[in-house]
Amino acid sequence: MQSKGAKKSLRAKIPNNTDLRKYEKESPGALNLNYFIEVKNKEGVWKKSKIIECRLDRAIFGERMLEDVKEDPDVKLQEDSYEYYIHYDHMNRRLDEWVKRDRIKPTSDFIDEKKIRAENKRLGIVHSSDEEYEGLDKNARKDHEEATKVKTITRIKFGEYTAEAWYYSPYPDGYHNIDCIYYCEYCLSYYVCKEELRNHMEKCTLVHPPGNQIYKDDERGLAMFEVDGYKNPTYCENLCYLAKLFLDHKFLLYTIVPFLFYILTIKDENGYHIVGYFSKNKDFDQGYNLSCILTLPFHQRKGYGKFLINMSYELSKIEKRFGTPEKPLSDLGRQSYLSFWTQKIIEYIQGMIGTPFTIEDIIQHTAIREEDIVDALERVSLIKKVKNEVYFCTDKKILKEIYSKMGRPAIPVNTEDLNWYPFFYKYNTNTVK
Ligand SMILES: [Zn+2]
Repeated sequence: MQSKGAKKSLRAKIPNNTDLRKYEKESPGALNLNYFIEVKNKEGVWKKSKIIECRLDRAIFGERMLEDVKEDPDVKLQEDSYEYYIHYDHMNRRLDEWVKRDRIKPTSDFIDEKKIRAENKRLGIVHSSDEEYEGLDKNARKDHEEATKVKTITRIKFGEYTAEAWYYSPYPDGYHNIDCIYYCEYCLSYYVCKEELRNHMEKCTLVHPPGNQIYKDDERGLAMFEVDGYKNPTYCENLCYLAKLFLDHKFLLYTIVPFLFYILTIKDENGYHIVGYFSKNKDFDQGYNLSCILTLPFHQRKGYGKFLINMSYELSKIEKRFGTPEKPLSDLGRQSYLSFWTQKIIEYIQGMIGTPFTIEDIIQHTAIREEDIVDALERVSLIKKVKNEVYFCTDKKILKEIYSKMGRPAIPVNTEDLNWYPFFYKYNTNTVK
């Protein structure tokens, strides 16, 4: 039997304890979050899920506050008075969403977190979010999860595109619990209503990101701009708010100043439209050649993600410092990297068949770090370590097969179209030759 009341922090405690009674009081009549539920997803399939949070159903109560409704003697709060913010079990948090009671089937399957963790450990299952939180201590992770568990913006309107937001983003007060956020796609100013954006567009004179153009591929209409977090803090901050809607794992907004932002755009008669970006720390102390990477959702699966990765390595070659992307990567970021590394290395090996080569040769040719080369090749069993010797698979058929499994190859970076001067050269005269 289910008892009423719901709150995440109480999960896995025995129902009817003091805390739970407190929450029964806070959201009376709501479904109990201590039990798994079945939720009908967008494809109409029932999926095992958990309740994260609940709120009054706005279609019934409009903007009325829960406190006010609870006092109203004419209202009897029950399960369908609420909407539920749910998480699909074993799925990425980007799919979390608000659903109404009619998409939910309760179950009697009690959520015993301790038992689940022990079972996962026994089966060797690492929860996907564990990888995303790598490097964070337990408290930092808990704070982050608590503060970001519910997305507060449903979708964004960006130029001609609309997209659903995937995650919480820490916009300033006044920009939460809204259905849509409206972006100027050039200066990245954002608004809560269409009219405000329209007024802005009449005045906004920007037609490209506010920085130096470092790349221009006229044939494909691609251009890249370097924007300095120190010189254009507002633009970069707005970009980070936007990016956070689609990235779960990074504390993007603590500092903008130490970073350079590389913005990829497509050009048409109206201007330069942003497709995606990556950021790069000006300081190389930690050995990172890329910090954050995002292709906007309406431009994904077109090869731009790998183009951005490709560009980060071309910049590494120019500055003669071979780096690695900052961890943790998002799940999509990691996928793109593994596929990019594998294809780049296979391209090299295919060109070397019949000629001896070493892992150092691959590093020099691709600018990919040794640990990343090994990581990528081990995953597709193209490398074997015997004692201290490393052996590569050079079977043409296998190489071709794996290459094609890695999806669309990166859009090439034409080095003759790249006009870039490393940041640290400007401030470190000793290194300039
Ligand atoms: Zn603007």
